Amino acid sequence: MLVILKSESTREEHERIMERVEQAGGRAELHVPKESVIVINGCTPSLLDEIGLLPGVASVRHNTGGQWLSSRERQPEDTVVEIRGCCIGGDAPPVLMAGPCAVESRDQVFQIAEHAKRAGASFLRGGAFKPRTNPYSFQGLGEQGLELLSEVRDRLGLRIVTELRDVSTLDLFIKHEIDMIQIGARNMQNYEMLRLVGRSGVPVMLKRNPACGIAEWLQAAEYIMLEGNSQVVLCERGVTAARGSRTRYMLDLAAVPIVKEMSHLPLVVDPSHAAGDRKWVPALARAAVAAGAAGLLIEVHHAADEALCDGPQSISPATLHELVSGLRALGQMPSRQYVQARRAKFKLIESRS
Ligand code: PEP
Ligand code: MN
Repeated sequence: MLVILKSESTREEHERIMERVEQAGGRAELHVPKESVIVINGCTPSLLDEIGLLPGVASVRHNTGGQWLSSRERQPEDTVVEIRGCCIGGDAPPVLMAGPCAVESRDQVFQIAEHAKRAGASFLRGGAFKPRTNPYSFQGLGEQGLELLSEVRDRLGLRIVTELRDVSTLDLFIKHEIDMIQIGARNMQNYEMLRLVGRSGVPVMLKRNPACGIAEWLQAAEYIMLEGNSQVVLCERGVTAARGSRTRYMLDLAAVPIVKEMSHLPLVVDPSHAAGDRKWVPALARAAVAAGAAGLLIEVHHAADEALCDGPQSISPATLHELVSGLRALGQMPSRQYVQARRAKFKLIESRS
């Protein structure tokens, strides 16, 4: 159950509500100190009615559908996640995040990062800790991969997004100042991980689990937000495909307008994992931007046939350039000048800190 507090409610009022719940044998937790909500468990309907009348309470929700903090009802205006001068969501033009599935070596990550930057990427995305289905497949370089990513950021001025595979490595992500933590499809329902990244305050990109509906995905975002972290970007990456489908997953493009109606959080689209084959990536990317995505997450590799992870779906640097130029020609991707100006803002922030 959720108790929504008035914005002007006081600490004393919060304490009184919590005490009343606990006196009656329930449990109450206060969340997000600024725009507080109290989550309560184990209360009878009559006690909830009583709490609804206490000073400081705006409303008591018996049935929120698990979504309040991320809902349009609570916040009609779009959330804009700003990372080192780059805005994702709201009226900002689509943001490009590109890179290899996995960081494989210094030479590989720098080569790809240079191409991504030239194509207009604001973020380099690359995995240091790879969650692989096959335990014998390349698992990533681990901390060495994070080190290479932060070197890319410092040398090329690209923001970094990389996946947290396990909660035990969160400290490393903080130590290497990773700009955005990717929660992969497999961990979308790892609630302890969601709470922890929520507490870390680092912006999060939350991928959709391919077996989950939009409601479950937004509830996962709610776990992060309940810990006080509103810097959440959703990432649609395809849902379980029908038998006989030619693609690895089925890109749910309807999720773009549906999430926009239900939530103020920005949503980016990953056409690479949805397609599973580089042939289909550009068309899906164009469709995602046309549908209103706040950005694209695209896997790119200069030697895709030798890639240690997800080579078949990685497009070449030339295809990435072509895709971005085509989108620019339609006015659907920001110009080179715009991206450069944003990069200058990145440097400005760097030199100030
Ligand atoms: C990835 O982004 O490389 C990845 C493993 O994606 P997902 O979690 O969507 O499968
Ligand atoms: Mn991948």
